[in-house]
Parts: sequence; structure tokens; C-alpha cells
Amino acid sequence: MNAVTSTRFHPLRVTRVDRETADAIAVTLQPPPQAAELFRFTPGQYLTFRRVVDGEEQRRSYSICAGLDEGALRVGIKRVEGGSFSAWAVDHLKPGDVLEAMPPDGHFGLMPDPAAPPRTILGIACGSGITPVLSIAASLLSREKRSRFVLLYGNRTAGDIMFRTALEELKDRHLDRFAVVHVLSREKHELDTLHGRLDAARIAALLPGLVPPGEIAEAFLCGPTGLAEAATEALAALGIPARHIHVERFTPAGGAAPPRRAPVVATDAPPAATAEITLDGVTRRVPMAEGETVLDAGLRAGMDLPWSCRGGMCCTCRAKVTEGAVEMAQNYSLQPWELEAGYVLTCQSRPKGDHVTVDYDAA
Ligand SMILES: Cc1cc2nc3c(=O)[nH]c(=O)nc-3n(C[C@H](O)[C@H](O)[C@H](O)COP(=O)(O)OP(=O)(O)OC[C@H]3O[C@@H](n4cnc5c(N)ncnc54)[C@H](O)[C@@H]3O)c2cc1C
Repeated sequence: MNAVTSTRFHPLRVTRVDRETADAIAVTLQPPPQAAELFRFTPGQYLTFRRVVDGEEQRRSYSICAGLDEGALRVGIKRVEGGSFSAWAVDHLKPGDVLEAMPPDGHFGLMPDPAAPPRTILGIACGSGITPVLSIAASLLSREKRSRFVLLYGNRTAGDIMFRTALEELKDRHLDRFAVVHVLSREKHELDTLHGRLDAARIAALLPGLVPPGEIAEAFLCGPTGLAEAATEALAALGIPARHIHVERFTPAGGAAPPRRAPVVATDAPPAATAEITLDGVTRRVPMAEGETVLDAGLRAGMDLPWSCRGGMCCTCRAKVTEGAVEMAQNYSLQPWELEAGYVLTCQSRPKGDHVTVDYDAA
């Protein structure tokens, strides 16, 4: 995707870069004073950054790892082998740099409620999937004084554990309300149950010893391909209703790389359909080429539409279909109620007929 001028991004100053592991950093960011309000977040949300490399715009999302009461905006970035943005960030980001970011987005997470009755929240994370889960845990423990957080966290080795110190501090501060169990797949542990992959069998074996499954109010799962499926299967078998199981994915199911670019379409052929797109109160009719998504057609027409992962995992490009219908190739982020209400991920949506009306402003 070529770089286009977008008014959705704000310059955030990097104030700290902390090395979490050999391959991961925590980046603390300061929004400009006039945009500070826009960067208030709900624990579990992510920021989308943009970077232009050789004239091409990259957008990548990173979950906020800071708790609500830390007074900081912080994300955790782990290097992906062969990855472009993550490798650059881990190797080169330093205090004083400026990153362009969109305000927090995403529906995975939980806003603590100090008036809520005491509850137990479960987190299951692997690798960099800890970032949103840490924010949820820290915020819950700080704001709901009688609620508990139980965390199962899988990594290859102890050296790969991100936010180890932050997790230990949480444990020290909330000894009787925070439990964390580390499972390591490539390092021997004195307890056999803590050595291996965090798969369905291991989750089912470990969890009842930590918390009676019936006491789990909500479960938040985040990690690489396979974790969501394994953990959902285990939790369902333990009787936790699907509506209380929340999943955030960083990569599409199956582990394929997210498609980072818009496909090349034949723009000399007559349009296959028309999309009427409303954004920031302005409606435009744009031609759609055969096989093109609503997002790509709008971007091709020069609209400053919001987008990030292009793989159906984040919900940055969410909009509401108000006329006509679309077919969505993949959806890893919209909830059933959103689908029923007509919301779609426009990066995955192709019209079923020759016309579709889509509203990005619909809340
Ligand atoms: C909602 C959300 C929240 C996220 N939060 C976090 C977070 O908190 N922390 C974190 O570390 N990450 C997070 N991610 C993942 C992050 O956004 C990036 O996807 C990740 O850092 C990889 O980006 P990259 O530019 O480094 O890799 P890319 O350059 O996009 O490549 C990713 C991988 O795919 C391979 N690849 C790329 N293109 C192809 C191709 N055409 N064919 C085959 N393979 C290819 C690369 O070799 C590499 O292994 C999140 C993602 C989402 C959707």
C-alpha cells in the first residue's frame, strides 16, 4: 500500500525503551498534549503504528501492556523472525524517536468496575500474547480491590518470558489475588505438568488446581496460532460458556502470514460493483473491481479509511453495511452481536451484488 496522507495518526514521542528479553522490548510513549484524551484506553486495546519504508506504508498493531493506573502508555513488541516492523522496532527504537499511531482500538479486554462484586478473571497467554493480558490483569487488580486474576503463561524458555519483572511485582503487590503459572516448552521444569506446550490437555490439567472453573467470570486468551483453539477447547470442556471466552489473535488461524498488501486488480475493466462509503460524515460512490474488498476499493479511490492488519484479526477497518450485503472471507475479531447488527471487517468484505453501502461512522 503506497503511503497516503492520513489524518488518523498522531506523533507519539518514545520516552523509554526497556529490553524485556533478547527479542522483545517495551516502548513507553507520550502523546502530544492536544491528543492526550484520544489516547485513553480500555485494558486489552491496541495501538496501530504506521511506518513508511521505500515509499510503501506499513501498518502494524501492538497491544497496550500498561495498566490503567500506571499513568503511562506502553506497548510490548516482540521480534517476528523475518518480520519487517518488529525487527526494526526491537533493533532501532530509542528514546526521543517519534512513532505515528492511531488512537487505541479493539474490543478485546475489560474495563474494571470498582463497584462490581468480587470476581475471578482468567488469562491464558503465550509469548507476546501477554501484552494485552498484562494490562487487563494490572488494571483489574488495581481497581477491583477484591477481584482475582489467574494467569497461565506459556513460553519456550525462561529467557523468553516477557514482563517477568512486572508479573513478579504484581504478585508481590497482590499476593492473595494474583496467581501466575509459567509453562515452558523447551526447558525442563521440576514439575512435569509445567513442561511442554500450553495445549488443551495441559490447560485442563492445570486450571482446576488454581481456580474452580465455575468461579471464572471471564477468560481472556491471547497468543500465537493454536493457543486460542486449544484454550477454547479446554475451557469449553470445563463448562465455561463461549460468551465468557474472549480471544485476541496476532496472526490468522493456520499461521499464514497476514496479507500486507492490496492485491493488484484490473482497473481498466468495467467496475464489477459500486460501493457507497460514508466516512467522517462524507459519502462517496467508488467503483469496485472484480474480487476487490470494500477497504481496497475505498483506499484506491483515495479515501483515508482506517485499516491495519488486513487479515481479519484486528477491527481497525470495522464498518456497518447499511444496504446490500457482503461476504466476509475471515473474521477473528467481530463478536456475534456485531455481525448480527451488520458490522463487517472491510478488509475481508466483497459485495454479494453490484452495490453495497457501508458506513464507517456507525458507532
Ligand atoms: C490486534 C493485534 C495486536 C497485536 N499486538 C501485538 C503485541 O502486543 N506485540 C507483538 O509483538 N505483536 C503484536 N501483534 C502482531 C504485530 O502486529 C505484527 O503482526 C508482528 O509484529 C509482525 O509484524 P512484522 O512487520 O515484524 O512482520 P511482517 O513483515 O509482517 O512478517 C510477519 C511474518 O510473516 C512472514 N511473511 C511476511 N510476508 C510474507 C509472505 N508474503 N509470505 C510468507 N511469509 C511472509 C515474515 O517472514 C514474518 O515471519 C498484534 C497483531 C494484532 C492484529
